Amino acid sequence: MRIVIVGGGPAGATTARYLAQFLGSGRLGKKDEVLLVNYTPSGGKPCGGGIKTSLFSQFQIPTDPIITYPMEGVIHFSKSSHFFNSEKGMTPFLIPSQQVEIALSQKLAIVERSAFDQLLRKLAIESGAKLIEGRVIKGRWEKGKFWIEVRRGEEREQIWGDILIGADGVNSTIRKKFLGERIPAITTYFTTLPIPIQNCHFHFEPIFSDRFYGWVFPNRHGGHFGATSISYLTRLVEYYSSLSILKPIKGYNIPRWNGKLLLQKGKLFFVGDGAGQVLPTTFEGIYYAIASGKLLAEAIITGEDYSTKWWKRFGRRFLFFKWLEKRLGGNFRYPILSLFRLKWYRNFVIQIWNKE
Ligand SMILES: Cc1cc2nc3c(=O)[nH]c(=O)nc-3n(C[C@H](O)[C@H](O)[C@H](O)COP(=O)(O)OP(=O)(O)OC[C@H]3O[C@@H](n4cnc5c(N)ncnc54)[C@H](O)[C@@H]3O)c2cc1C
Repeated sequence: MRIVIVGGGPAGATTARYLAQFLGSGRLGKKDEVLLVNYTPSGGKPCGGGIKTSLFSQFQIPTDPIITYPMEGVIHFSKSSHFFNSEKGMTPFLIPSQQVEIALSQKLAIVERSAFDQLLRKLAIESGAKLIEGRVIKGRWEKGKFWIEVRRGEEREQIWGDILIGADGVNSTIRKKFLGERIPAITTYFTTLPIPIQNCHFHFEPIFSDRFYGWVFPNRHGGHFGATSISYLTRLVEYYSSLSILKPIKGYNIPRWNGKLLLQKGKLFFVGDGAGQVLPTTFEGIYYAIASGKLLAEAIITGEDYSTKWWKRFGRRFLFFKWLEKRLGGNFRYPILSLFRLKWYRNFVIQIWNKE
């Protein structure tokens, strides 16, 4: 049996790693193989890199030198706010803003995505998976097997297999080619600036976001700024600095989980962003890509139903955060955010968020 995983980000690399590990332990036949097909876009995957630190021990991922900045989270919110644009000769000014520092006791960290993804692929190869560099451009099922066409420069290669896994991110080619579907998503805009930033800041003030949040995270260039529109992002940058945006603003999609996307059809499976597995409200996708990758590998090996297994493990958490996201996008936004001032509420949300 040949298992082909398209996409070597956190989801695909982890699925390949655990599948190869199980194969290595002799649970499947010796002729079986796990192939990981990946291409790396220039500039790497757009991402803030925020993860829970527990991920490293839970999935036996070495932290050094990948982990940076174990830190606290700060939530900023206000009922109403005004912003005077510095371009019009006025100082940026925000009223009335409140902030709540969430003591996460170093439960939050930042990873540099290119290095982190490379490390995950290395772990997959060490477990026995084979890595093929190239971009999948076509594919089809034929007589109980599938084939995909992989492009590498001018070269094209056809690969056949028995089980196909779409771990190729939010714009999944595998989902488009095999199911004719796209993943519901929101476009986020981001930039980096040479401003030293401490802690992870989540901005819920209405001038930075009406439904979701704007974020400012530390990264190796200084600060990574992101928001759900270009004007929200521009204001966020102006609020932190008199520097105008030096680097170009880029945009990239994040899946919006709705519980309706197909995770499995016969011998075709989807995982990570390719399955829309991003936690609503926080838009956290790295942890769920990795955790779902391991869960999928276990399901394939044991013959359990992957979709049922996933819902059992994460269904309630995703539904809770979806509920919260809807409330934060409506009239309850401010009352809910104000609850963060209460210690018991902070602990309650952190407990759900940090569950393994
Ligand atoms: C601006 C932004 C900020 C974010 N910040 C955070 C954050 O702070 N914390 C967090 O947890 N999540 C964050 N996310 C979400 C997170 O980046 C994703 O949820 C996560 O990367 C999903 O992992 P994945 O492996 O499923 O997909 P990806 O990371 O997208 O990996 C897919 C891989 O497949 C490859 N690929 C794609 N198509 C093909 C093809 N046709 N053939 C071969 N290979 C292919 C890609 O090059 C890539 O290597 C952010 C997202 C964005 C856009």
